[in-house]
Amino acid sequence: MSTAISTQIAIEKALTSKISEVNFNNLPFGQVTTDHMFVCDYKDGKWQQPKVMPYQNISLDPSSRIFHYGQSVFEGMKAYKDADDQIWLFRPLENQKRINISSKRLVIPEFPENYFMEGLKTLLQIESEWIPKTEGSSLYIRPFVFATGNGFHASPADEYKFIIACSPSGSYFSGKVKVLIEEKYARSANGGVGFAKAGGNYAGQFYPTQLAKEKGYQQVIWTDDNTHEYIEEAGAMNVFVRIGDTLLTCPTSDRILDGITRKSILEIAKDEGIKVEVRKISVKEIIEASNNGTLKEMFGAGTAAVVSPISGFGFRDKDYELPEIENSYASRFKKRITDIQYNRAEDKFGWRYLV
Ligand SMILES: *Cc1c(COP(=O)(O)O)cnc(C)c1O
Repeated sequence: MSTAISTQIAIEKALTSKISEVNFNNLPFGQVTTDHMFVCDYKDGKWQQPKVMPYQNISLDPSSRIFHYGQSVFEGMKAYKDADDQIWLFRPLENQKRINISSKRLVIPEFPENYFMEGLKTLLQIESEWIPKTEGSSLYIRPFVFATGNGFHASPADEYKFIIACSPSGSYFSGKVKVLIEEKYARSANGGVGFAKAGGNYAGQFYPTQLAKEKGYQQVIWTDDNTHEYIEEAGAMNVFVRIGDTLLTCPTSDRILDGITRKSILEIAKDEGIKVEVRKISVKEIIEASNNGTLKEMFGAGTAAVVSPISGFGFRDKDYELPEIENSYASRFKKRITDIQYNRAEDKFGWRYLV
């Protein structure tokens, strides 16, 4: 049954729900999907009628451009439920803007803000029961857009599909991670697509990450593609270093993704009076700080894990340990951010968004 609502999103409800099959006390990250998805197709030069429909397979022509030329970008965001069952998002307009920044770089047509926001809200209201309330759990939201247009010609497609899918999820990483500072492979290059959440960026990371895993590390710290002297990101997260009491992170560029968690941490640090330096950070400086005892923390920052503390790093066949810190910056930032996300604390920044 299809009904049109005022935002002109057609809604087709699933006849049955999978929710009773899901164990909400043991949720792997991003594995289980909900009953519905938001879908909007681009053809004849415009975005067509958006709809919420039962989550299902999609059928594509084998010559669809997505399979051959990788025109595909995505976002990652979360919905949280508070003690009163209100649903919250965290800075969703930043994701909305960023998917279009990514799309533009891959010649994918931009998706209108009202379609994105109304689609998201409508879907979340329908999937409300799927938003977990257990500590650290949330509904992971994956907006993505990809080329569906047919033909083996290496040029941008003329048809696209925009989808929002959701997955109730537990916490992303359990415990601290040991990372390898990478000197051979690069995640991104000057003039490339590193700043975009483009699918291919992640495919390119899998092989070097697999090599790092074989050596006993869980993640890679990427260095700049040119000199490999400066650290840039930690896996698919922005990276922070604490030397003494100063918090360091590198500036964003066309090689580095402009993370919303990174931006939020920088504002919280400023609010807490923590000394912050946004500048290039050399591997040499980190190793010197480790050797003289001033290297206190390193952590990744991203929506999935919020902050992911690093326990130690490897560089040129040598391992360096990070100390155990009481009241670490990582734990403070994580608490400040999650307290805002779950509506447990005042939100002086205006980041929380009621669905
Ligand atoms: C998504 C992502 C991040 C983190 O961005 P958030 O907006 O904080 O989730 C950082 N680096 C890369 C490469 C990413 O894909």
